[in-house]
Amino acid sequence: SSNIIAIVGRPNVGKSTLFNRLIGHRKAIMDNESGVTRDRSYGHGQWIGKYFTVIDTGGYVHGSDDIFEEEINKQVELAIKEADVILFMVDVDAGLTGLDEEFANVLRRSDKPVYIVANKADTTARAHQMSEFYSLGVGEEIYPVSSQNGSGTGELLDAVVKHF
Ligand code: GDP
Ligand code: MG
Repeated sequence: SSNIIAIVGRPNVGKSTLFNRLIGHRKAIMDNESGVTRDRSYGHGQWIGKYFTVIDTGGYVHGSDDIFEEEINKQVELAIKEADVILFMVDVDAGLTGLDEEFANVLRRSDKPVYIVANKADTTARAHQMSEFYSLGVGEEIYPVSSQNGSGTGELLDAVVKHF
């Protein structure tokens, strides 16, 4: 296995922040350097001696909250095709949105393991708000994390690398 983790989710939930944390200080490789596409970047990281590649999706909506069904399908289908584990990121501060439900609907087609990452759980009170995302009805488990301060990311990685 090539140990590929894909991070998907609507704009501004914190995908790129988690991506940067998972790859540490290693340089991310934008695949638009090859001139092929412009919508994702790849980086490399490791956890307890297991090496992996992370794909950050959704760069094509950079600086915008607008995302369309076609882009959701494209982003999720790429993840389903390329990844071994999919991280579906949501935002506990903003709460559950219609766009999150659209992502969940497409992710249901995946036979790859999906974990919901309830991001922006910077405090314990906020972490408790993750429970509303169980209604999405997708994924094996929900992990509350703060991609900003790093809390919860160790527990998430422990679960993810079990697939590698
Ligand atoms: P993306 O569009 O999903 O890639 O989201 P970004 O990584 O660009 O983050 C969107 C915004 O959320 C930025 O202002 C981040 O600083 C902020 N953010 C990301 N992770 C966290 C977090 O764990 N807690 C808080 N409070 N803000 C976060
Ligand atoms: Mg981003």
